[in-house]
Parts: sequence; structure tokens; C-alpha cells
Amino acid sequence: MNLRLKKIRTKMKKLGVDSFITATPSNADPNVVGTNGWANVHWLTGYTGSNGLVIVSDRNAYFITDFRYKEQAARETKDSGFKLIIAERDLYSQLGKLKPSVFGAVIGFEEENLTYQYFKILRRLFKGKKVVATKGVFGELRAVKEDGEIRYIKKAVKITDETFAEVLSMVKSGVAERDLALEIEYRFRQKGGGIAFDTIVASGWRSSLPHGKASNKKIKKGEFITFDMGATYNGYSADMTRTVVLGKANKKQKEIYGIVREAQSLGISLVRAGIRGRDVDKEVRDFIAEKGYGKYFGHGLGHGIGLVTHDMPVLSPSSKWVLGGGMVVTVEPGIYIPGWGGVRIEDDIVVKKEGRKILNKSPKELIEL
Ligand code: ZN
Ligand code: ZN
Repeated sequence: MNLRLKKIRTKMKKLGVDSFITATPSNADPNVVGTNGWANVHWLTGYTGSNGLVIVSDRNAYFITDFRYKEQAARETKDSGFKLIIAERDLYSQLGKLKPSVFGAVIGFEEENLTYQYFKILRRLFKGKKVVATKGVFGELRAVKEDGEIRYIKKAVKITDETFAEVLSMVKSGVAERDLALEIEYRFRQKGGGIAFDTIVASGWRSSLPHGKASNKKIKKGEFITFDMGATYNGYSADMTRTVVLGKANKKQKEIYGIVREAQSLGISLVRAGIRGRDVDKEVRDFIAEKGYGKYFGHGLGHGIGLVTHDMPVLSPSSKWVLGGGMVVTVEPGIYIPGWGGVRIEDDIVVKKEGRKILNKSPKELIEL
């Protein structure tokens, strides 16, 4: 039996449901690919398209899609253990045509990814059965990566590293942030990858915006420039941040950069199987606070990466996660001083049973261009 199908069935037993339903988000939404709903369906079945519904019981496993994906889905789901059904009309009407008796008395659905509209449909389709909400079903399953998944992430990281090295030579006074972002995204695709998220290029005062998407602002000499960029490969994301200076760095820039770099090394050194996400976050947060910049680091230390860029587990003050071998996480502390600028450094790290492996090879000493 397919390993992932086995994993979901084990999970279903724990949840006390006889059957479990998940689906891609509404097909009307053009940005389905890369969302959690899409990732769950893809993880289970191998399907990469935008319209799919999955129902699993202890004996049956069906994958329903529409005519547009007939040939593609047949190829992609071939070894998944799912029986492929092409819907005559919409996916839920097709679900209604399956014999309800094979699905048992309790049907679980994902509360995070199914809208109320679909809940109402399920309740109607499974009249007389219990339709119950489940939470966090795929979190743990998808957090621990298989070797093949780690290989895809490594390739995405390699594309990201190579692109960063190439684009550095284009950073010049008068160049717009947007043009650099465009160049980065073009090169991701040229190298056989995709784009994990809108590329962040934030220069000068904008570098204090942790999520400052590339704007029309032109880069000036003496400014910090933060690049937060990630390619995808076979659906798996990379996510890397580097901050560089155009020209010579001044004293304050060197000081802030040095603190963030030290904080990031500290964070990476703590990543290992068995440590709590919140403890890694706390050590790094305390370090930055000791240096006097605590109030300028306002986001979590890191997150998992995988089929979505912000995957499980989480490294933050409220994280309940314990890191385990095979998880892949980012470590990305930053200091953001409003009106002055900011620095963030981010790498992707595989958690090993013993220690860790940093995937990124882009340099971390302060680059003065
Ligand atoms: Zn990032
Ligand atoms: Zn990140």
C-alpha cells in the first residue's frame, strides 16, 4: 500500500473517523497551487492540478477531478493507491454518486481548508452520518520529509543560490527594486524552477519592512538591500534571505549586520531533533534583546518549508512543535529599525537525528558591492 495512504489511515484511526475528505480550495480561485489545501491533495495523490477532491476510508480511496485533468491525473496518481474518477459535473456532485455505505458512520473533513459552503454540501450528501471537523491532520505528516522531498528542496535551494550570485552583479545605483525581482523570478524559471512567493527586494528605508515586496524605488549608494527569495522545484520551496550594501557599509550598518549574523548562527547551532521550536526562538530572541535591539525583532524565528513556503513546524514564542529528524526549517532573525533600515539573514536547514545540515551556500559575510 502507498505509504502516505497508510499514514493518513493511521491518523484517521486516532481521530476516530471512518472516512476522511480533503480537497483543493475552490476551483474559482486562480491561486490554488501552493496553498495548504492543494498541498494536502498533492501530498496524498501526486496530483499537481488545481481541482481535486479526495475521500479515504479504511478500504477505499478515491480521487475525483474534472475532464481537463483526465490524462494528467491518470499519470500523476498512477502509483498513489487512489482510484481516479472523472466528474461528469462538479466534484461534489460526483462524490454524491458514490455509495455512501462504504464510507462508514463518521466522516471527517479539514476545517482549515474546506469552506462553510462545502461543509453544507457534505452535510447534505452524507445525511444520517456524522460529518465532523478535524484539525491539523496533515501538519505532522507533511512536516517530516521523505528523502525524495528533501532532494527537491535541495534543488530549489540550489536554483535560489545560483540566481542570487548572478543577480548581485546587477545591483547598481539607479536600478529599481522591481527590476531585480523580475530578473530573479525570470532566472528561477530559466533554471527549471518556479517561484515560491513574490520576491522581496527592499532597499534603504524600505529594508525595515520585513515583507517589503519589490517596489519602483531605485537603489542608492550606501543603502542596505534585503533580498528574500525562493525558487520551487517539483512543487517544493526554498526560502532564503540575504542583506547586502551598495558601496561601503557604515559603522551602524556593520554593527546591526554583525548582531543578526551572530543571532542566525546561534539559531542554527541550536537546531536538532528533540528541541522545542519555542526554545530555539527564545535563545535567539534573548540574544538580540541583550544587544539592545529586542523590540526591533517582531516576527517568529523560522518555519518549515515544503509544498508550501510556510509549512510546519514553527519556530516562534508560541510554537508547540518539537523538532524531529527529516523536518526542514528556516532560521531567519532580523532587526528592523523604522526609517533607518533593516537586516535579515535566512537559511534552510534539514534537522538530522544528530545535528543539522544547512542547505544554502550563499555567503553570509556582509557583502559590499
Ligand atoms: Zn524568506
Ligand atoms: Zn521564511
